[in-house]
Order: sequence, then C-alpha cells, then structure tokens
Amino acid sequence: MIDMHSHFFPPITRAEAAAFDAERAPWLAVREGESEGQVMVGDRPFRPVYQALWDADFRVAELDQQGIDVQVLCATPVMFGYAWEPAKAADWAARMNDRAVAFCARHPRRLKALSQVPLQDLKLACAEVSRAQAAGCIGVQIGNHVGDKDLDHELLVDFLIHCAEQSIPVLVHPWDMMGGNRMKKWMLPWLVSMPAETQLGMLSLILSGALERIPESLRICFAHGGGSFAYLLGRVDNAWRHRDIIRKDCPRLPSEYARRFHVDSAVFDPGAFKLLVDVMGVDRVLLGSDYPFPLGEQKIGSLVREVEFLSGGQKQQILRGNSEAFFGLA
Ligand SMILES: [Zn+2]
Repeated sequence: MIDMHSHFFPPITRAEAAAFDAERAPWLAVREGESEGQVMVGDRPFRPVYQALWDADFRVAELDQQGIDVQVLCATPVMFGYAWEPAKAADWAARMNDRAVAFCARHPRRLKALSQVPLQDLKLACAEVSRAQAAGCIGVQIGNHVGDKDLDHELLVDFLIHCAEQSIPVLVHPWDMMGGNRMKKWMLPWLVSMPAETQLGMLSLILSGALERIPESLRICFAHGGGSFAYLLGRVDNAWRHRDIIRKDCPRLPSEYARRFHVDSAVFDPGAFKLLVDVMGVDRVLLGSDYPFPLGEQKIGSLVREVEFLSGGQKQQILRGNSEAFFGLA
C-alpha cells in the first residue's frame, strides 16, 4: 500500500524558530528521549504530537505494523509561513524541504517527501518547488489559499501552470480555516471549515475558468476526499444551469471538470467513500490517511479494504496503483 497523505514536523528548536519569526514560526517542544511533545507557535501550544511526526525510524516501524510499503509525507500546514516576508519564507521553505528530504533519506524506499513553497511570491515559489524537486521531493504540497487569494488568483494559477510544465504533482491541503470566532470549540475549524476550504479551492479553479488555462497534464490532488466537493457537486451544477452569473467565467458544466482532480480517501465512512468514487472515478482516488494525527485513519487503508462495492483490482488501484501513476513512482 502507498499512503499519500501524511505529515511530518522536524525537531525545530525554539531558537531556530525565533530567528525567523518569534511570534509565528512553529517549533517542537520535546524533551530528549521522550515520545510525546507539543508543536508550539511562539509561547502558545498548538498541538500535542508523538514521535512518529519527527522520528523517521519510529515512523517506519509503525508503517511496518500497518502494512504500508511507501508513505508520502509533507509539512504540517502550520509550517507554511505564507504570512511572512517572502524572502524569509523562501529561506524557511528551503530549510524545511531539506529537512524533509533528510528525513526520507533514512528510509529512501519507504518514505517520500512533498515540498513546501513560499506561495505568497510566485517567482520564489516556482524557484523553490523546482529546487526541492531536484533535491529529491516527488511533488509539492500547497495550502488552499494565501490570505484572501484563492486558487483562482492569477499568481496561484501561474504557480500551478509552472507545476504542470515541470511535471510536478500538487497536493492541496486546507489550512488557515474560515469561520474565526464562530468556530472556537469542538474542533469545528477541522470539522466544518476544513471541508469548506477544500471545496472552495476546487470550485475556485472550476468556476473561474482557470482550468481552461491550466494544462490538462497538471496532476492535482485535494486532501480529505476533496472536503465538501463531491457531496455538493449536484448543487453547483444546478446553480450553473439556472444562474448566468455562475456560467459567466465557467464555460462548461462544473461536474465536467471533476476528472481534472484527484482526491485522497480520508472520508471515514463507507457511504461517503462510495459517493466519492462514483463522482471522481475509481482512478482518481488515492489512499491517504492524514497520519500521524488523531483525525487521521488509525488503521491505514481499512476503509478501502473493507468496502464491498469495489473489486479487488479496484481496491489495488486506490491502495497503490493510482499513487504510482500520480507521483510517477512505479
Ligand atoms: Zn493533512
């Protein structure tokens, strides 16, 4: 099995983070030899985490138990640095990408890295994604927006065109979630805002007509099964049919663009997963766990393996073949 959606966080010290941005750069609070720690942002605890996040050997031992042959890992989104001054964010991204490549180098056949880029600056982002790819990354992870620029913004479209031209696969991850003060409790930013952010990213590309300009060769995958996208695509098609303001920039029925996207399988429910495969196509869904976080699939691949509506061959596609094709891993 290939798990294409997982995160790492290197053991960034407080001093190292402070040298970039004492208020906003994340770091790892963990005592020597301890297996649990805390991702911190400045003085603020951000998330409790455990050893698999920063220790490649520990991680591969867990992957052995889970039966995962290859895992693709990328930054924890709190590492993005999109709000910083661009040159500083570019230095940070290069440093994090080198850490990701070094992390994977301990188990080069088992672990593969996606890069991160200073997405607030097109030129720097294009330079870093190409540098990181040459240094050993197999694709890039980006957030679904940069401040109030969504994926249809000219700069982000140009970045995606660069990735298409360079044949660099893209994973879009929701982050910096909408809702603010109304989403304070019960992990609502993760449960309500994240799926909406992902859907917003996908619809931004469709409804703006950006997919008419981006080469069809772009390989782009959205996390968490594309969030709310598949479930609400019928609502979008209906709106497109009956309101000209939606057709204005988008020449085709929105659902006709669904095949331009890949999604991971992290939806946690057989009915939702069946809908996802029906809407996206069995060749467009990739096993992705969101390991090693509590909101990820705890027994990686169990949802795909246990459903009854897929044949053995189709399960193999989702568990392995589709990721091999998407990342060129075969
Ligand atoms: Zn994730």
